[in-house]
Amino acid sequence: MSLLVVGSVAFDCLESPYGKVERAVGGAATYFAVAASFFAPVHLVAIVGDDFSKEDAAVFRGRPIDIEGLERTTGKTFFWSGRYSQNLNERVTLATELNCFAEFKPRLPEKYRNSKYVFLANIAPDLQRDVLHQVKHKPKIAAMDTMNYWIERTNAELRETLRHVDILMINDTETRELSSEHNLLLAAKHIFKMGPSTLVVKRGEYGAMLVDKNGIFCVPAFPLEEPHDPTGAGDSFAGGFMGYLASVGSKSEAFLRRAMVYGSVLGSFAVEQFGLDRLLKLKKAEIYARARHFAKLTQFKL
Ligand code: AMP
Repeated sequence: MSLLVVGSVAFDCLESPYGKVERAVGGAATYFAVAASFFAPVHLVAIVGDDFSKEDAAVFRGRPIDIEGLERTTGKTFFWSGRYSQNLNERVTLATELNCFAEFKPRLPEKYRNSKYVFLANIAPDLQRDVLHQVKHKPKIAAMDTMNYWIERTNAELRETLRHVDILMINDTETRELSSEHNLLLAAKHIFKMGPSTLVVKRGEYGAMLVDKNGIFCVPAFPLEEPHDPTGAGDSFAGGFMGYLASVGSKSEAFLRRAMVYGSVLGSFAVEQFGLDRLLKLKKAEIYARARHFAKLTQFKL
C-alpha cells in the first residue's frame, strides 16, 4: 500500500557539538520518505531548484521512493541551517531560505491520486489542504505535522486543515502552543475538538505519546550513548510510524502501538549520525533488532 508525502526537500547546514556539515540533503519529506520506504512504497511531492543535482537525488535511489512528484524548477533549493546546544536538546535556527519553496504549488501526478495513506509534512497549511483535495477518495489515514511558524502566522488556515486529518503528529512545545494548554492530556482533548481523532506528541529524548479514544500509549526514545544530530528525528519518527501502518493496512490499537515503536526506532537511528547518513546505511534487520530491544526495554511483570 503506497504512502504519499508532501513537504520540504532541502539543503541543510547542521552544527552540533559533534561537528558541522555545510550542505547535507535534508528536508522533512526526505527524512520521512527514506524512513517510511523501509516498510512501504512512497510517493514524494516536493520541489527543488536547479542546484539539486543527480548526486543529491541519489538519496532516493535504490529505494521504493517514486519521485515523479518531485518538481524541478529554476533557482535555488530550500535552505535551512541550525545549531544544537551541548546536550542536543536545544536548537537555534540560523537561517531559513525558502527559495523555490516560496512559489511551490503541489501537483499530484495522476497515479498518486489514489493514495490511501497520506502524510502532510511541515509546510504551509493551505498547501497541505490542497494536496489532500487532490487525493480522489478519503484516505484511510491522513496525518500531518506543523510548527510554531504556522501556528502563529496562519492559525485560521491551520485550523481548517486540521478539520480534515485523522492524526496530528507534533512536538510537545507545538502541542502546548496550538491548544493553549500546558498539560498534554488536556491539550489532546482540546485538539480533538479541532478535527484529529489521534494525537502523537513527539518528546525528543523523552520518547513519544499517543492519545486517542482508547487512552494513552507511551514509547521511550531509544537510549543512545552518543547521539550526533537530532535533525529530522521527528520526520523519521513519522516515516517509521506511517510506513508501518501503510504496510499492515490497519489502524487498530495493536498496530498503532507497534507503529509508535517503529517510529521511535527510525527516529533513534536518524540521530546517530549527521543528516541522513545513518538512515542511508540502515538495514531492515537492524530495524527489527532494535524493535525487539525496545520490547525488552519496556517489559516488566506485576
Ligand atoms: P526536524 O528536525 O524534524 O524539525 O526537521 C528538520 C528538517 O526540516 C530539516 O531537514 C529542514 O530542512 C526542514 N525544515 C526546517 N524548517 C522548515 C520549514 N520552515 N519548512 C519546511 N521544512 C523545514
